[in-house]
Amino acid sequence: MANRVLILADVVDGSITPMTAELVGAAQRLNAGPVSAMLLGSGIAAAASQISGVERVYVVDAPALAEYTNDAYTQAALAVTKQADPAVILLGQTNVGRDLAPALAYKLDTAVAMDTVALEMKDGKLHTTRPAYGGNARAVNSFAATPAIATVRPKSQDPVAGGAAGEVVTVDFQPGEVRTAVKDRTVATAEGVRLEDADVVVTGGRGLGGPEGFQGIEELAHMLGGAVGCSRAVADLGWRPVAEQVGLTGKVVSPTMYIAVAVSGASQHMAGCSGARNIIAINKDADANIFKAARFGIVADYKVALPAVIEAIKKARAEG
Ligand SMILES: Cc1cc2nc3c(=O)[nH]c(=O)nc-3n(C[C@H](O)[C@H](O)[C@H](O)COP(=O)(O)OP(=O)(O)OC[C@H]3O[C@@H](n4cnc5c(N)ncnc54)[C@H](O)[C@@H]3O)c2cc1C
Repeated sequence: MANRVLILADVVDGSITPMTAELVGAAQRLNAGPVSAMLLGSGIAAAASQISGVERVYVVDAPALAEYTNDAYTQAALAVTKQADPAVILLGQTNVGRDLAPALAYKLDTAVAMDTVALEMKDGKLHTTRPAYGGNARAVNSFAATPAIATVRPKSQDPVAGGAAGEVVTVDFQPGEVRTAVKDRTVATAEGVRLEDADVVVTGGRGLGGPEGFQGIEELAHMLGGAVGCSRAVADLGWRPVAEQVGLTGKVVSPTMYIAVAVSGASQHMAGCSGARNIIAINKDADANIFKAARFGIVADYKVALPAVIEAIKKARAEG
């Protein structure tokens, strides 16, 4: 294995997402050799120019990759890996990355570290850190096999700032048997910024009492240019779509500001938001677990506190 790092470009609806620059940033900081990207999809080749800070972009552009399927994408990633010969492969901890990384590791007879938040090379080996036990502990892993494969939690890494676009290398790909066919696709409609990319997330919990309690949550999120999240209790009750659920069995978010309103802060919820730079909690119970993680807290009924916060922001903005 050569000293090269390969990242999987993260693509949503044909566009490169911010996750890609975060992966390139993490890969560069490893100082483990030249960084290249693989870009997989159908009708995707033009997006290669959006990837900067890499030596090469290996493009597999094939109709078989129009929709994500584990078997077709694993085959394509294997074709790139064979050509690029990396020592380290990084993918995002995204829907695609979390499904593809273990399959790729199995096919390459190596190991994978999932949902990592810190990466470094020590004595020529990749060491990764990942939250364990619902975010209450951190596990550090190193690799005995190569290539070392890791998925990286969105927003845990500073993105690469600019840099030249890489040389485009078209990889010859003849898909073998693909046993999965995508029959239907339902797009979750979300207005504004995506939860995973949001710098501000305003989350509502069961203590809001019903779906109508989310009016204030939506208003605050909108004012701050953020996204709405919810706890699993809320999603299970059908008050909000599952796509908004934050936590162990929901999305993992790492915004600059995470505002949790009427959320108790169960460990399974914290597993999805403990990477936030600042947690702000509104809860009427001063002993609620969320306050242990919160940088700022308001102990009050949200029906009083939330409108007051919204008014205060409006006033501050009006005063410039
Ligand atoms: C395997 C497993 C996986 C799970 N995965 C997830 C996950 O991904 N995400 C997740 O969120 N949960 C998850 N859970 C569930 C988790 O354990 C909690 O049950 C859930 O997070 C509770 O949601 P909540 O905080 O909204 O509700 P509650 O625990 O009911 O808390 C409501 C809070 O609102 C406060 N409150 C009530 N009224 C008001 C008011 N008027 N004003 C202000 N505050 C008020 C209360 O004091 C309380 O703290 C999982 C559980 C299991 C077992």
